[in-house]
Amino acid sequence: MSIAFAPSVPVPSANIADLQPSATIAVATLADRLRADGRDILDFGAGQPDFDTPQFIRQAAAEAVEAGATRYTATDGMLSLRQAIADHDSALAGGRWPITAGQVVVSGGSKQSIFNACFSLFGPGDEVLVPVPAWTSYVEIVRLARATAVGVVGDPEDDLRVDPDRLAQASTQRTRGLILNSPCNPTGAVYGADELRAILELAAERGWWVLSDEIYRRIAYEAPAPSAWEVTSDPSRLIVINGVAKAYAMTGWRIGWAVAPEPVARMMTALQSHTTHNAATVSQHAALAALSRVGESDAAIAEMVAAFRERRDAALEVLASVPGLQIVQPAGAFYLFMNVQPFARDSADAGGEIARRLLDEQGVALVPGSAFGTPGWIRMSYAASLPQVVEGARRISALLRGSVR
Ligand code: PMP
Repeated sequence: MSIAFAPSVPVPSANIADLQPSATIAVATLADRLRADGRDILDFGAGQPDFDTPQFIRQAAAEAVEAGATRYTATDGMLSLRQAIADHDSALAGGRWPITAGQVVVSGGSKQSIFNACFSLFGPGDEVLVPVPAWTSYVEIVRLARATAVGVVGDPEDDLRVDPDRLAQASTQRTRGLILNSPCNPTGAVYGADELRAILELAAERGWWVLSDEIYRRIAYEAPAPSAWEVTSDPSRLIVINGVAKAYAMTGWRIGWAVAPEPVARMMTALQSHTTHNAATVSQHAALAALSRVGESDAAIAEMVAAFRERRDAALEVLASVPGLQIVQPAGAFYLFMNVQPFARDSADAGGEIARRLLDEQGVALVPGSAFGTPGWIRMSYAASLPQVVEGARRISALLRGSVR
């Protein structure tokens, strides 16, 4: 007698029933597929620097492996790395808050740190305020914790930033947290010290947990982007998220961290001890070199930021020729966020329509604003070579100028 296995469609558990796959990763995958089919595609979907990891960091990692860095570390990371992170953040806090290695949990990327924090702190019935447009994973991560993400749309007249009034209006008795991101993905907007301070004061007054995702902090053009550490007057419910991916061009090494009040750090460590345990040991050594060899890192970051600035300015110059195109002035990160509502027929998903047409007609891949909660917009990453960025901006400009209604 043979047993027949009927092909069946798996039913997702309630844990992931509402989960949407990452839209930004989906764009990159589609661009790769079209390229493999022989199409000439310029890909501005990716959220990663196009530079190589600086040589001294790669070298430090290679040496660490040769010296035997091939085993587990503590779940929350090597003490030397956690201490380097604590020292770095203490310096940002100006010594007002002594930050210890016991507050630091190193993980496999800042994405995991955000997950650890949300999963540890939020649950059913809790609401978490997310300024919109927002990096696509915040909402999904909050949902994985079975809490509710409440989008708070930023002011289009103020580079889509939120302020305490908007946040207070969106809050309820159930609000438990707020996720901040400056410089912002997808807009590149940076919150000034006073704006950030005012938001943190409201959060402290209301007893909200604040996750401050500062992954783009070192990529800022006009002035250094303020850290929550610099302006907070009460860090008892503050969790600062950071990592090496963006500033050090180390996306593939997968190292991020959270700096939190110690009891929260212990909760996140316990969670991580049953999921991924320690972040890859060799990558921790690479991150340690990045953070501790400050002179070399500063020089490498300055060079990359100068290249991003040149590309940003070149793209903005080309796009300035499109009448009626509103673009957030990016003071940080490496994204241009554009309002394409006036150029689309589809009033519900203008960004989706323009992104599809750009791909079909111009071979340009970028991310529709719906991925960030603002369907009227599109996001172009300028983490690509200068000639590619200029050519991409030309193609976008050509399509939009031909679409004015
Ligand atoms: N936060 C933001 C705002 C991001 O844009 C990204 C990456 N796109 C991350 C976190 C995740 O970074 P990591 O590679 O450290 O997980």
